[in-house]
Amino acid sequence: MITIRSIRPIITAPQKINLVVVKVETSEPGLYGLGCATFTQRYEAVATAVRDHLAPLMVGRDVQRVEENWQLMYQHSYWRNGPVLNNAIAGIDIALWDIKAKLANMPLYQLLGGKVREGAAVYLHAQGCDNKELEDRARFFLSQGVNHIRIQCGKFAYGGMEYDGIRPDGALPGAYYNPRSYMRENLAAMEHIRNIFGDKVELLHDVHERLSCAQAVDFAKQCEKLRMFFLEDALAPEDIEWFANIRQACTTPIAMGELFNHPREWTPLITGRLIDFMRMHITQMGGLTPARKVAALGELHGVRTAWHGPGDVSPVGHMLNVHLDLVAPNFGIQEFSPNYHWDPKQKLGMAPELQEVFAGCPELRNGYLYANEKPGLGVDLDEKAAARYPGIRQVDQWTQARVPDGSLHRP
Ligand code: MG
Repeated sequence: MITIRSIRPIITAPQKINLVVVKVETSEPGLYGLGCATFTQRYEAVATAVRDHLAPLMVGRDVQRVEENWQLMYQHSYWRNGPVLNNAIAGIDIALWDIKAKLANMPLYQLLGGKVREGAAVYLHAQGCDNKELEDRARFFLSQGVNHIRIQCGKFAYGGMEYDGIRPDGALPGAYYNPRSYMRENLAAMEHIRNIFGDKVELLHDVHERLSCAQAVDFAKQCEKLRMFFLEDALAPEDIEWFANIRQACTTPIAMGELFNHPREWTPLITGRLIDFMRMHITQMGGLTPARKVAALGELHGVRTAWHGPGDVSPVGHMLNVHLDLVAPNFGIQEFSPNYHWDPKQKLGMAPELQEVFAGCPELRNGYLYANEKPGLGVDLDEKAAARYPGIRQVDQWTQARVPDGSLHRP
């Protein structure tokens, strides 16, 4: 029996975004697995959960019993389904899948059933303060073969342009925005892109839960004329019952899920056919073991996958997304965060600093992401290189979002 010899969290920030990777070493010399456990806003808490709570539970156990190991990690804390523990469990779970595929001597996608497509179509983020900036970015992406483009008008991606109007005396500092101006600016920006590029562009947009429930229904309705690919996070997880109202009001395709932790969040939206795309952050939902089950649930209900893939997913996590994309009949689209050089002569791809730390990153070519043929996930981590980019302690500003009267709003 091959057993778990050690489990270690590794924190690294090659792009100044804290990433958490878990390394699981086995009793077989040279055999190890890597998993992503990135919850960037609380990365030290995840590392502590891996090191001090899960490692003592899991060392010595059979590496082959992936499902048993997941169920044990899940139930062992008694209280469960929170983001810190889910990410910690995911790091180990993904590493065990990596090991299992290495033992089978096949790329993970083979172990999961084999390809139904050769590459995963991606969407990229275009963000700008005016139509010209957005148009330039969209043109650049199109020149590189990417036609699924998320349009966000504003300096900080979410909430539109910064609100600099009158605030009450004594209003606290924060990331101010005005929900009503946000709606106007972003509708106008998307209309502009549609007018310039016509149907060459598939339009996406992320509301990032910045609106009230009624505003979200109104916004989705106004987006209908744009024939979007999807509208994301129109509502907060706390307000999921309102998705039924959006469905009744318009045909805008709806994506949801990056903030989900609990099966009671995604299950009713999928089985009720109230969303079109599931957007979970795979480590936030507990890893590959739950993700592949929920992907299959989506297939049965006409809901496609669009796994979360921003900068706060490690290359290990991005590669896991790609393996799932290759095997899922109900794959929809893959979010990806490449290096952004606004220069048509430079090719889009995984940032060089990330490639310095992680060997075997997914490759982006003409709008599609590709896995490699190495056994397992196909991604490796150079620990010395990772140590050159230590974690950064900081208090995030952007999650201190405020509306014009100075009160906080979910970011
Ligand atoms: Mg999002």
